[in-house]
Amino acid sequence: MKFIVSLYLLFFSQLAVAMQPVTLQLPWSHQFQFAGYYAAEMQGYFADEGLEVEILPGLLPGGNSVNVVGEVVFQQAEFGVTRSDLLVHRARGLPVVMLASIMQRSPAAFISLQDFNIQGLEDIGDASVSLPLMLDERGAIIDVEVIAALEKAGVDISSLNNQTPSWDLQDLQQGKTQLMLGFTTDAPYILERRGYQPRVILPEDYGIDVYGDLLFTSEATLREAPQMVAGFRRAAIRGWQYAFEHPEVIADYILQHYPPYEADFDRDFLLNEAMLLQQYIQPDLIEIGYTNIERWQRILNIYREIGLTGPVELEQFIYQVRIAAPSKWYKPTIAVLLILFSLSLLLVFRLFQSRRMLEFQVRYREKRESQLQRQAETDPLTGLDNRRRFNLELETLFWRAQRHQLKLAVILLDIDHFKKINDTFGHPVGDRVLCNLAELCRQALRESDFACRYGGEEFAFLLPDSDLSDAVAIAERLAQSIEDAEIITGDQRVRFTVSMGVAELAPTDENAEQLIHRADVLMYQAKRSGRNSIQSVLSAE
Ligand code: GH3
Ligand code: MG
Ligand code: MG
Repeated sequence: MKFIVSLYLLFFSQLAVAMQPVTLQLPWSHQFQFAGYYAAEMQGYFADEGLEVEILPGLLPGGNSVNVVGEVVFQQAEFGVTRSDLLVHRARGLPVVMLASIMQRSPAAFISLQDFNIQGLEDIGDASVSLPLMLDERGAIIDVEVIAALEKAGVDISSLNNQTPSWDLQDLQQGKTQLMLGFTTDAPYILERRGYQPRVILPEDYGIDVYGDLLFTSEATLREAPQMVAGFRRAAIRGWQYAFEHPEVIADYILQHYPPYEADFDRDFLLNEAMLLQQYIQPDLIEIGYTNIERWQRILNIYREIGLTGPVELEQFIYQVRIAAPSKWYKPTIAVLLILFSLSLLLVFRLFQSRRMLEFQVRYREKRESQLQRQAETDPLTGLDNRRRFNLELETLFWRAQRHQLKLAVILLDIDHFKKINDTFGHPVGDRVLCNLAELCRQALRESDFACRYGGEEFAFLLPDSDLSDAVAIAERLAQSIEDAEIITGDQRVRFTVSMGVAELAPTDENAEQLIHRADVLMYQAKRSGRNSIQSVLSAE
């Protein structure tokens, strides 16, 4: 009897799980383009998966847009929506995972007005354009469709009369720019309604055929909560199905709960957008969210042709839909299920066992995956992170510092006359010095700091929330502990010194690379000044 009671308790504890809050970061303001997510909320599909989803717009009042990929990579949001540029971010080393290809084609296009007489990309000449042609200052937007289409059209990108990318159709109306990027699903309609005659040039006409909006997450979120990710994806896709079956219901829901900032974005606009989106999402032809790895390979090839990406392992980039969690089993009503449960105690018992088995397998696989990931990012000799990890960490911390106006300092360290240590005492002793130094670094740094073996006998540290004097203090502490350290080999004692360059991220106009470069220059300055020293101020030489 006790056994049955405890089984019941176990059963109820499963029902009583609290709703998990998660965030979805959209790339733009609320409109039908994101209908599926509102529908999943309205219809309780997210709730069915135990999720309480906050849907955040990506365009803020005042015209600033959010760096969606940054939000997700830095786990400010669990999920995000962006386009095929996601692949470029992955190739740049950002741990993003594509969950579902919502739009089978991309509605991003070049938007102009008839009056400007730009029939095709070849006609741009020296007309004023506003196109996002490279990473923005936060390394965020890469509108690869634009770059690829221009390249295919034989346009010399560097010779374009390109203004700061504008997303404001007003600039087109006022003739400030004659060609900009927009969505075919909204811009032409809005322009027409305002009394202008739009002209649309499609990247597809230049052989650029890529996916449109994608749902994505970060590797960390997927690793930490695979069931949650699966549930979110399921709910979102159900939401999309609903949205196309009931566009008017969703349009009204958007207007009521997620009013767009733009006054033109009214009910007619939303319904027109819904109609146009059909040809991009193709809900009648293709299972919503469906993705095809060969097509991604072709997209990768397009990007490679224009020199945009490094290697990508598509199997890791594309989410594999796993075996559905058995949790849906006991969703409907408690009473019915209680009877069912009592009647099929044996069955349920077995289910628990197989579920445990399944969870075990999933956990095992995840553990294995994260082990491999760790290996790829760890220096085997010292156990510190390696340079690859450093670069990822730098990107994240740099982005965070910029976004939230936080401090960030960096220290580069190089052992003095290390070659001599190797030559005098042998390579194994050199190795021990490196391990010993790694340990001293661990002790000198704070929990939130980040240490890596940057190269042979060079180490690098990232110190978030630290200014120059904090960083110098840490460097001095480390130098002191190095001075006190000795390595005993046979009857000899090995001592060593280091040279360090310390730099703080300049509040403006400096990117991560420049910061590292500055620390590097300072480190060489320390060498030239006689070694065993710390430099934090560039000397005029
Ligand atoms: P400086 O003060 O100018 O930095 O002189 P240095 O001798 O330290 O600099 P240099 O760059 O000439 O020599 C670095 C040496 O570090 C050469 C290389 O053999 C050694 N080294 C690099 N990686 C390892 C390693 O993993 N183990 C050992 N034992 N030595 C290494
Ligand atoms: Mg060196
Ligand atoms: Mg050295």
